[in-house]
Amino acid sequence: CGIVGVVGNQEAAAILVQGLEKLEYRGYDSAGIFLVTDKQETIMRKAKGRIADLKKKLSASDAGEVGIGHTRWATHGEPSEANAHPHVSKSGRFTLVHNGVIENFEELRKEYLSDAVFHGETDTEIVVELIDVFAARTGDGLAAFEAALAVIKGSYAFALIDMEQPDRLLLAKNKSPLLIGLGDGFHVTCSDAMAVLSQTRRFVEIADGERVVLTKDAVTITDADGNQVDREPFEAQIDA
Ligand code: GLU
Repeated sequence: CGIVGVVGNQEAAAILVQGLEKLEYRGYDSAGIFLVTDKQETIMRKAKGRIADLKKKLSASDAGEVGIGHTRWATHGEPSEANAHPHVSKSGRFTLVHNGVIENFEELRKEYLSDAVFHGETDTEIVVELIDVFAARTGDGLAAFEAALAVIKGSYAFALIDMEQPDRLLLAKNKSPLLIGLGDGFHVTCSDAMAVLSQTRRFVEIADGERVVLTKDAVTITDADGNQVDREPFEAQIDA
């Protein structure tokens, strides 16, 4: 299972697909990508099975500067197209990919989402709907993401797109891997540097409990208490 994300690169679709191919070794049963076009339209493509099957669902015109991709290793809900990530909230505002397991998703569903009907059976969908519920209260996407992180228990690497501000990715991690890659005029995120070595060799680590706002120009990392974190990039010493 793995995550790839891109912000600020016209080749986002190709970078996501290539990244997912590089992450195939981690194992997966389904895959998907989500792109935001220049006109702020959205493109969602998912497939059960191989990345090759996902590629068949992409058309040459599928392009955007911002996107997230995922290979899923099912933990909650069977491997299927409906359960494949990315998952979109019912309002259409938020789109999320997740690696890991949300341990208290049943409790969260009972407490915050008792009226909701779900498309699939994953723990991840609870999270994206929860962010939506909190955003309806606060209006602010980042505040809603942080409010959700405060009540979630479990392991996760998250990459989130908020269509109110689709020029940034919101990231967080706890016990599942996630890195930031520094491109030339753009940024990427990934579970493993291997995924994006064709784009960059410079990476910034994210520690458990931190969250990141990633735009094409800036990497803003904060800890769970809201303090800004400054972290130097490192050079990946691996062969592509
Ligand atoms: N628990 C999530 C699911 O079953 C994510 C699995 C993964 O890490 O790929 O959909």
